[in-house]
Amino acid sequence: MRPTGKLHLGNYMGALANWVKLQDQDAQYDCYFFIADLHALTTDYADTSGIAPNTLEVALDFLAAGLDPERSTIFVQSQVKQHYELPLLLGMITPLGWLERVPSYKEMQDNLATKDLTTYGFLGYPVLMASDILLYQPQFVPVGQDQQAHVELTREIARRFNQFYKFDGREVLPEPKVLLTPSPKLPGTDGRKMSKSYGNTIQMTDAEAVVRQKLKTMVTDPARVRRTDKGDPDKCPVGDLHKVFSTAETLAKVYDGCRSAGIGCIECKGWAADALVQILQPIQERRASYSTAMVKEILKDGSRRARTRAEQTMHEVHSAMQLTLTDEVGR
Ligand code: ADP
Repeated sequence: MRPTGKLHLGNYMGALANWVKLQDQDAQYDCYFFIADLHALTTDYADTSGIAPNTLEVALDFLAAGLDPERSTIFVQSQVKQHYELPLLLGMITPLGWLERVPSYKEMQDNLATKDLTTYGFLGYPVLMASDILLYQPQFVPVGQDQQAHVELTREIARRFNQFYKFDGREVLPEPKVLLTPSPKLPGTDGRKMSKSYGNTIQMTDAEAVVRQKLKTMVTDPARVRRTDKGDPDKCPVGDLHKVFSTAETLAKVYDGCRSAGIGCIECKGWAADALVQILQPIQERRASYSTAMVKEILKDGSRRARTRAEQTMHEVHSAMQLTLTDEVGR
C-alpha cells in the first residue's frame, strides 16, 4: 500500500480486510505487509513532504484494521535496504519490452498528465514491485484481480533469474503464486470507483457525522428522480454499498422498497450509513489505542525483522550471481 493518503473503505474491503483474514487463519501464513514509500516516489518525487506523515497514517490504518504486529511483519519499505539492492540486480535481466507492456504504465501516464512520469523510476516500478515480493521468497501474494498482471511479471522475472543463476544447484527465487482475494470494486460518493485520486472516498477515520453527510451527497440510480419513481439497487452505487456492508435482511428491504418506491433514497442512504458506521466503529476504537510512539516502535521492529529475512535472500542471490568472492567477504 502506497502512503499517498489515509486509507479508505475501498482499500479496506479490497485489501486490508483480506489480509487480516489471512493473518487470523490458524497462523497458517507467515505474513509480510509493508508501506510502499519508495513506490510513492515514482509519482510524488517532486514533493516528498507528504510521504513520512502518510506512512504513519497508513500504519495506523493497518493496525486499526486488525493487523497484529505480533503475528505479522509490518514494515516500511525504505527502511529495508535490500529493497534498493535487489531491483538493481533484477533490472539487469529485465527486458525493456516487458516493462513497456505493463498495462498501468501507459494508463497512469495518461491519468496523471500533470506529472512528468517519463522517468527511469516509473518505467522500472514493476521491477521494484517484483523485488518487494521476491525478497521474502514467498509462496503466495494475496492480491485482487487488478494486481494479477504485476505478479505475473514478477513470476517471469523470477523465472529468468532462475534460468541464469542457481545457488547450490537450486532455484533462489521461487515463483510466487497469486492468492486471489475477493476485491469487490467499491464505488465512491460520485459513483465512480472509490479512489484517493477522485476525491470521492469514505475514509476509515471518518467520524459518524462525516459518513452520514457523505452518504447524503452520494449519487443514486439516475432513473429515480422523484420520490415516487421506482428504482433499481443494481443500478445504484448506494445499492452496491448495501450489497457489501448490509445484512441480508436490510438488503431485502432495500430491494423491495426501492423497486416499489416504498422507500426514498434518503431512508435507504441512512441504512447504508448505519452499516458503515457499525463496520468503522471497532476500527476507529482500535486506532485510538495506538500512540504515534507505539506505531514508530512497531514499524522499527517490523523493519528489523524484514531486514533479517531479506538479507538471507540477498545472500543467496549474491552467491547465485557469483558476486561474492567467498562467503565471508564483505557482508
Ligand atoms: P487509490 O485508487 O485510492 O489510490 P490504491 O490504488 O492505492 O487506491 O489501492 C490500494 C489497494 O486497495 C489495492 O489493492 C486496490 O485493489 C484496493 N482498492 C483501492 N480502491 C478500491 C475500491 N474502490 N474497491 C476495492 N478495492 C480497492
